[in-house]
Amino acid sequence: MTGKIVMVIGPSGVGKGTVVRELRARYPEIWFSISATTRAPRPGETNGVDYYYLTDDEFTELEESGGMLETAEVFGMNRYGTMAAPVDQAVADGKIALLEIDLDGARQVKAARPDAFGVFIAPPSFEELSRRLVGRGTEDPAAIAARLETARNELLAIDEFDAYVVNDSVESAARQLAELIGLPPR
Ligand code: 5GP
Repeated sequence: MTGKIVMVIGPSGVGKGTVVRELRARYPEIWFSISATTRAPRPGETNGVDYYYLTDDEFTELEESGGMLETAEVFGMNRYGTMAAPVDQAVADGKIALLEIDLDGARQVKAARPDAFGVFIAPPSFEELSRRLVGRGTEDPAAIAARLETARNELLAIDEFDAYVVNDSVESAARQLAELIGLPPR
């Protein structure tokens, strides 16, 4: 198998995390990118498993030397990013390097590595996405409205990437995703 970067992209609430979990359970040979962050580990989190925890200076140094495929500042204080070296190594080893990533990050990766294959996970409908965000019960109404507004804009980006999968069931979405990236049925 030839290695490649595969990005799984999609709005918040679309269930991309669940689809990726299902895919990884079926295909343990997929290499999954671990992000770098400047935030402190939370209890129970482990360096190199949940994230690579970097100091601000380490992060800046990597970024300035071209060592990051994409970066983002979240909540105006913590920085997050995808380190280039492990991803490029996985691809060189012939692996599928999977990045679960937001829209802005995906655009940066595509600019840095034009061969990266982007699959957009779309909700069956906007109404369904809305229902899922409300049903999750983790956000208050203002936060849900804000996320839906973001999702509405993000859905317009579906054409920017190489393929899309409608997440009507996790099982079917994972199967379609596997097929798109050239994995055998399993
Ligand atoms: P948390 O601190 O709760 O683990 O993550 C906060 C946010 O950082 C999440 O919304 C997540 O999407 C984002 N994030 C995590 N890793 C990365 C990354 O590698 N790149 C980008 N752009 N965002 C990330």
